[in-house]
Formats: sequence, structure tokens, C-alpha cells
Amino acid sequence: MIKINDLTFKPFLSETKILEQIKSLSQKIEKDYRDKAPLLICVLKGSFMFTSEIVRNFNFDYEIAFVRVKSYDGTKSASEVKEFYGLDSDLKDRHIIILEDIVETGFTTHYLIGKMESEKPASIEIATLLFKPKQLKYSDLPIKYVGFDISNEFVVGFGLDYNEKGRNLRDIYQLNSDLS
Ligand code: 5GP
Ligand code: MG
Repeated sequence: MIKINDLTFKPFLSETKILEQIKSLSQKIEKDYRDKAPLLICVLKGSFMFTSEIVRNFNFDYEIAFVRVKSYDGTKSASEVKEFYGLDSDLKDRHIIILEDIVETGFTTHYLIGKMESEKPASIEIATLLFKPKQLKYSDLPIKYVGFDISNEFVVGFGLDYNEKGRNLRDIYQLNSDLS
């Protein structure tokens, strides 16, 4: 068990399991995109660890870009984007892969895809480390690669934060709803 501010979290996914799963996602992406020189878009801040681990396993041509989309406060999803910047790469005719730490309602990725489509990329697909399928509100999202389907519980670690804390944790922890 760990405590961050007022909340208690319990171990959920081990680093070993996470790295194993990311390696397998990397291999799938490499197989599908080997000849497409894709542009990977890392959605900051939460996806920085996922992104670095994905590309470490790559052995082909790709590019990487970073955008910031903030829509979350504490442990609750907000249905508006509070901060957005960084989409300055030329997307025209590029094969885009959005790298997310977690897709919950799908609002963030839906918003991002809306911004990108006007630039006429060749394709857009989503790779996400975690997915909360029961919370999804945008059912038409191109979610192609998923590390783990999880329940609705709030999680931290491996890049994901609770009010900016816990991003450095190697394992992923889940909110202990019995105690909080
Ligand atoms: P969505 O827009 O799909 O509802 O939520 C996506 C964003 O909300 C993610 O990129 C992430 O920043 C944040 N988020 C959703 N669920 C969780 C969670 O369980 N833990 C943390 N730390 N962030 C989450
Ligand atoms: Mg995020």
C-alpha cells in the first residue's frame, strides 16, 4: 500500500508485466507501420513513460512529437480541455499514432483527433497503455492498440499522476476504495 496526499493506493500492475505488454505492443506497431515512417504523438504529461518504452523497442523509421492536453482534475475527468498546445508538426499525408497513457471517456483523444483531421493526415490510430472500456463515450475512436483493459478505478504510476504526484512509480497502483 502507498499513500499520496489524502488517498491510499494498492498494487495493481507490476513493472515486469507492464514492460512485457508494451514490448508486445511495440512489435505489433512495428509490423503494421514498418514501411510507413509513422509520426508518434505523445500526449503529455501522462504518456511520457509509455512513449519512451514503446520507442526503445523499435527498429525502424519513425518520428516523435509531443502535445499537451489537460482535462483531468484530481481523480475526476473534466469534460472540457483546460490546456492544449504543441501540435506544430506537419501532419499532411502522415500516418499518425496517438500514444495515450489511458483512455477513459475518450474525450481527450476525440478532441485531439478533431484538431488533427483538418491537417489531412493519411491515417490516425490510437495506442493506449490502459483502457477503461466501461467509461467510453466516444465509440467511434480508432483505438487499435491496448495494453490493458481495466475497471473504472483511478490509477497512478508509470507516468500517471494524482495531482502531479506518483508519476515516477515503476508499478501501477489502484485507488483503494475500501479505505478512502
Ligand atoms: P478521457 O478524456 O479519455 O476521459 O481521459 C483521458 C485522460 O484522463 C488521460 O489522458 C489521463 O490523463 C486522465 N485519466 C483518466 N483516467 C485516469 C486514471 O485512472 N488515472 C490518472 N492518473 N489519470 C487518468
Ligand atoms: Mg493523458
